[in-house]
Amino acid sequence: MSLLAAALLVAAPAAPPPLSEADVRKKQAAVASVEARRSDLVSLADQVWAFAETALRETRSAALLADYAEKQGFRVERGVASMPTAFVASYGQGRPVVAVLGEFDALPGLSQKAVPERAVLQAGAPGHGCGHNLFGAASLGAAIAVKELIAAGRLAGTVRFYGTPAEEAVGGKAYMAREGLFRDVDVALAWHPADRTRADMEGGQAIVDAMVEFHGRTAHAAFDPWNGRSALDAAELFTHGVNMMREHVKPTVRMHYVIPDGGDVPNVVPDHAKVWIWARDFERTGVDDLLARLRKVAEGAALMAGVEGKFTVQAGDYEVLVNEAGERLLDGNLRWLGPIAYTPEEDTFARALQKAAGVEATGMDAAIGALEGQEKEGGSTDVGDVSWNVPTLHVSVTTAPHGVPWHAWPVVAAGGMSIGHKGMMLAAKTLAATMVDLFDDPSARAAVRAEFEKKTQGFVYRPFIPDGPPPVPRPE
Ligand SMILES: [Zn+2]
Repeated sequence: MSLLAAALLVAAPAAPPPLSEADVRKKQAAVASVEARRSDLVSLADQVWAFAETALRETRSAALLADYAEKQGFRVERGVASMPTAFVASYGQGRPVVAVLGEFDALPGLSQKAVPERAVLQAGAPGHGCGHNLFGAASLGAAIAVKELIAAGRLAGTVRFYGTPAEEAVGGKAYMAREGLFRDVDVALAWHPADRTRADMEGGQAIVDAMVEFHGRTAHAAFDPWNGRSALDAAELFTHGVNMMREHVKPTVRMHYVIPDGGDVPNVVPDHAKVWIWARDFERTGVDDLLARLRKVAEGAALMAGVEGKFTVQAGDYEVLVNEAGERLLDGNLRWLGPIAYTPEEDTFARALQKAAGVEATGMDAAIGALEGQEKEGGSTDVGDVSWNVPTLHVSVTTAPHGVPWHAWPVVAAGGMSIGHKGMMLAAKTLAATMVDLFDDPSARAAVRAEFEKKTQGFVYRPFIPDGPPPVPRPE
């Protein structure tokens, strides 16, 4: 071996040390605990699937999970960070504090039966098009498995389950982070339902969510239009400006908008209009640049149309800060647990979903994806905000067939039947086993921490959320 090769070997990131017998036995106990609770976890996931409650309206979903945690002996604090559906369930005492995040909000308009063709369950109702019904239940299952080891005196420290509402809008975790609820956490873990399984080495996109409002002057659109100043003109000029920007932003940027208000009727010059826009890039700094440019475009649009403009940042997420040391732990546990086995019926279900969605009917893909060589992909999560406050480990687990559109009915369908349940179980076991590593192995914890400290040196957390309380809707 050359000196250079020897030096490279020394410099290479340390692989996790071989597991001790005792560690393996504790992990086996954690996995067995998740398995023993399978019917409860499936029931929790199915109930949340049926409730299908959207951001900050997840009253029954949050209560279901919080009540279950309480029944298992967790201390539950409800209504944290001024959100009635946010809660923290804790068990044990002292350090380390290992947290697992759970989501449970649905998406508007995606109601769908758990069948492999488009079949609305309840017209106009929400549906779990991102699999968050599985997300919350799996994370809670993992927390309970760790709790049982603490209760048996086999692990020492505190395990916490964070019930984090409103991921799809608002960004509940940012409000929880701003409140300092993660301050004493040593490591946080999260997973996400996906069309593939792997420990995530890429952190998605940072995002900002802004509402751009214009206020003009009404007039008769035919008799005296010169007396009017159209807010809709300004909205159109703004979106035109955004579309001109597209050529002059990095290819990593995504900007998408809808026009929730474009006036009332054609014969009245609209005095009100608004554009709701989201802008993303792979890093928060890129989003900050976009935001500054979008503000100017809005100002220019208002100026040209002769109306007043108002630009409000409503929410936003950081990109997830990847912790490679932590991802290696997750990856090791995924491989230790092995891939999901699907039945021929599940494979048939998957192919039908893929066919209906117009993608290649390849069936279920159980493979555990490689840690290296992952590509950057679009999408954002408020887990990002947690990850800049405490070291955060993130894993994706298959809950839907490969290639089907996300935030769409096929994900709702698969998440309400055994394909989703199997993903939930693997996620719970992976998280539980990784938490055992973190509790049991101070050097693993130290490596995760050291990487986090290095990557956040000089960093100051500035959440996008506006000052004041979260926008909790009035009960219907
Ligand atoms: Zn999601």
